Amino acid sequence: MRLNELTIKQAQEKLIAGEITSVDLTRDCLLAIKEANGKLNACLTVCEKEAMAEAKQADERRAKGESPSTNSGQAAPLLGIPYLAKDNILTKGVRTTASSKILENYIAPYDATIISKLRAAGAVLLGKTNLDEFAHGASTENSAFGPTRNPWDLARVPGGSSGGSAAAVAADLCLFALGTDTGGSIRCPAGFCGVTGLKPTYGLGSRYGLVAMTSSTDVPGPIAKTVLDAALVEQAIAGPDDFDSTAVVREMPDYEGELKENLFGLKIGLPEEFFTSGTDKGVSDLIDQAIAKLKELGAEFVKVSLPHTKYGVPVYYIITPSEVSSNLARHDGIRFGYSAKDGNHDITSVYTKSRGQGFGPEAKRRIMLGTYALSAGYFDAYYLQAQKVRTKIKDELDGVLAEVDCLLTPTSPHPAFKIGEKAADPLQMYLEDIFVTSPSLAGLPAISIPAGFAAPADGGAGLLPVGLQLIGPRFGENIILRVGHQFQLATDFHLKKPSL
Ligand code: GLN
Repeated sequence: MRLNELTIKQAQEKLIAGEITSVDLTRDCLLAIKEANGKLNACLTVCEKEAMAEAKQADERRAKGESPSTNSGQAAPLLGIPYLAKDNILTKGVRTTASSKILENYIAPYDATIISKLRAAGAVLLGKTNLDEFAHGASTENSAFGPTRNPWDLARVPGGSSGGSAAAVAADLCLFALGTDTGGSIRCPAGFCGVTGLKPTYGLGSRYGLVAMTSSTDVPGPIAKTVLDAALVEQAIAGPDDFDSTAVVREMPDYEGELKENLFGLKIGLPEEFFTSGTDKGVSDLIDQAIAKLKELGAEFVKVSLPHTKYGVPVYYIITPSEVSSNLARHDGIRFGYSAKDGNHDITSVYTKSRGQGFGPEAKRRIMLGTYALSAGYFDAYYLQAQKVRTKIKDELDGVLAEVDCLLTPTSPHPAFKIGEKAADPLQMYLEDIFVTSPSLAGLPAISIPAGFAAPADGGAGLLPVGLQLIGPRFGENIILRVGHQFQLATDFHLKKPSL
């Protein structure tokens, strides 16, 4: 077994036992990236030299007996563990493009808080992963640097927008990866690539140093090979931050400890609006089997109703473009990034040419939609109305989650689709988010875990991974992590690997 194939937990045990070093681990990951990235286009930047130096440092720290404490006070579980970060997370000295031409050569002068935390924990940054430009998308086809391919079938998308991170974890290019989730961008690609992706509660961790998309729903989170690994990463990156007042100060639970509890007495809700006829039979069969398995493990299931679910996608696609249009205003050819060179004699032409040439079509579409929804004559009818319905969605979810411990739904209505299949139709692409937007609008934690493999309805060659989503109450990461972990102890879907 090559060391890049290890989980964090396995690597941690071998590092502590002195059987391997971080330099060995990092070298194997870099080798795997070299071999596979030509096919996958999962990594946009690989920082080989820096990674090897960080690995050496981690080994030295370990040799000195240093074990910097984590949030939970345990010995550092990530010391010497190599990872990749989505390229909309700022990394000091290593370029951050957000997969946009407008930031093609942007090098941030500081680290995002989650990157600083991982540095302090001794994790090793291998490089940066591909995404839909500015995280706008559900397939990673909107990248200015070409699409990422799904390691299970290179003709298909890995999901998006954290497609590079999910593909990299599935193909064992790293031990874990960071993603961001604004309306599904960790969960959908995790589902399509057969890995585990946790979108934490809004406010559990810091957003400082993320390239802002929709500031009211953006959250960073882990994409990992197992639920246990995702828990270890979240434990290390969560917590308050002086640079982000929305990251709340609260007692962090010990996730790893809580995962071990069984599921007896746990009540899981099945929201009827998420079990629609639009879902592939292959997907709903696997979800039914997962429910049966969880029942065997002691969980009880009840049907619940969330009638406002149908407004999730429309509300999300008013609020998101509105915030996007405001957040992208800073990319004007003066303050950040690409500046058009042709015939700039006045400030307006610098703005319009730089933005016109630098942004891709989806970013422009969202800027226009958002500017429209926020403009004086339309604000009440669109943005304000959407915010009111958002509150209804949130209240409804909070109400149901006061009655049950968590909710179970499919992550996506079907397995990965073909590259190019939906690229020309933005509405089809937006509908990909049907099961994932409402937890984002409500700020709730949700996780996608592998539920098995199904044949795609379009008659592709092999079987493709399918994800199931667990939605928890606010700051109830411990509950969904526990259900996911117990499910993984009883199943082996998460252990299957694509052959590249
Ligand atoms: N598909 C969603 C969108 O395009 C997901 C975005 C995200 O979570 N970053 O907006």
